[in-house]
Amino acid sequence: MTVTVRFAPSPTGNIHIGNARTALFNWLFALKNRGRFIQRFDDTDTARSTQEFANAILYDLHWLGIFPDVVEYQSKRFDVYDAALERLKAEGKVYACYETPEELDLKRKIRRTRGLPPVYGRDALKLTAAQKAAFEAEGRKPHWRFLLPNFGADPLEPQRTEVTWKDMMRGDETVDLASLSDPILRREDGSYLYTFPSVVDDIDFGITHVIRGDDHVTNTGVQIALFRALGAEPPAFGHHNLLTTVTGEGLSKRSGALSVASLRDSGIEPMAVASLAVLVGTAENVSAMKSLAELAEHFEPSQISKSPSKFDPAELTTLNRALIHAMSFEQVRERLAALGIAGDEAEGFWNAVRGNLDRLSDAVLWWRILKEGRIHEPHLTDEDREFLVRSFDLLPEEPWNGSTWKSWTEAIKEATGRKGKALFMPIRLALTGLSSGPELADLLPLLGREGTLARRP
Ligand code: GLU
Repeated sequence: MTVTVRFAPSPTGNIHIGNARTALFNWLFALKNRGRFIQRFDDTDTARSTQEFANAILYDLHWLGIFPDVVEYQSKRFDVYDAALERLKAEGKVYACYETPEELDLKRKIRRTRGLPPVYGRDALKLTAAQKAAFEAEGRKPHWRFLLPNFGADPLEPQRTEVTWKDMMRGDETVDLASLSDPILRREDGSYLYTFPSVVDDIDFGITHVIRGDDHVTNTGVQIALFRALGAEPPAFGHHNLLTTVTGEGLSKRSGALSVASLRDSGIEPMAVASLAVLVGTAENVSAMKSLAELAEHFEPSQISKSPSKFDPAELTTLNRALIHAMSFEQVRERLAALGIAGDEAEGFWNAVRGNLDRLSDAVLWWRILKEGRIHEPHLTDEDREFLVRSFDLLPEEPWNGSTWKSWTEAIKEATGRKGKALFMPIRLALTGLSSGPELADLLPLLGREGTLARRP
């Protein structure tokens, strides 16, 4: 059977690095197994879901290098869910309930005071046809609950019923169906809660592996029972740990700061996001992987920590730097051109500056320094000025190349007796206006003799 996975966010906001992590785990698993990746939008909440958010999520995925084989929207499949629910009704596996939220709340409180677990006590199963008709006559519509298979002969006498699975990430897992309320599948207004459409889709789309956050572990007990109620074999499940901020708070879709879009806007490379998202919380050192194919070789579901992993944005900057420093000119040619960095000098320029960049767009600053002159007026002592005047007199004739800096500084050393920082810092300040930056040996040929002389103080 072809490995088939899905990533199933609700399009109610931008995805953050934690959601991207789920997408990446699925994508890498499909990549390793030559499988298929289905993008499923869980947009049954039509009031909060928008096509704009769905498009933004697809854009973010593409940016990360994830290209779904198929895109599905749950909002287009209500008739499929209705048909599946009708089947369960016909088989007596779901039942109609008429309680209002207030009544349910009261029932929970009563059970608690009696020392019973606060689960739904299945009172609706005791309703007679006449009572149901009376509710309907009042204008009440039912919500539908799935009768969990956690009893022997009498559903009003639930018994411990273990659902077990071998979790791809967590190992052996068990959920006791007697500890859970019968889940509501469809509300009074006809809308569906997440659980049921998800299972119907996983069956219809031939999902073989469900990889998602460990906030869904309990759902899995219910969903495995639902797969069986619908006559299907459940897929394999893998629940990964969740990310928290450095201070331990959960990431929320609404907290824009760690959204994939904001990371992109701040100049973080997709492979920095992917490397950190996938390797954080594993035994592997978090290092910058150059491609998703390379990252896939380092992805092993069972190696992910079971407790939450802390996500530190500072690590992204470190990874970003490592990626940029290793990028060849060919890899960035078009992006540089879009920043206005093009022409014969672009390649030499890139090779000279890449080692000093935190993000690709920082190259613009160095291009300006080279083309327009230093951007700050450096603070120089009179002594340094005098030193610089003498040094600029010693500039070698052209042609210039990678060894020009060496011959120039040797001449300066001999004439002035200065060496080390005392020699190069005033020159760096005069040429660039900044106290750190690319190797002067690399900058000189880019400036040329004329450009260098133009910076003489
Ligand atoms: N829409 C659900 C969520 O975002 C999907 C969970 C699942 O993968 O089954 O939590």
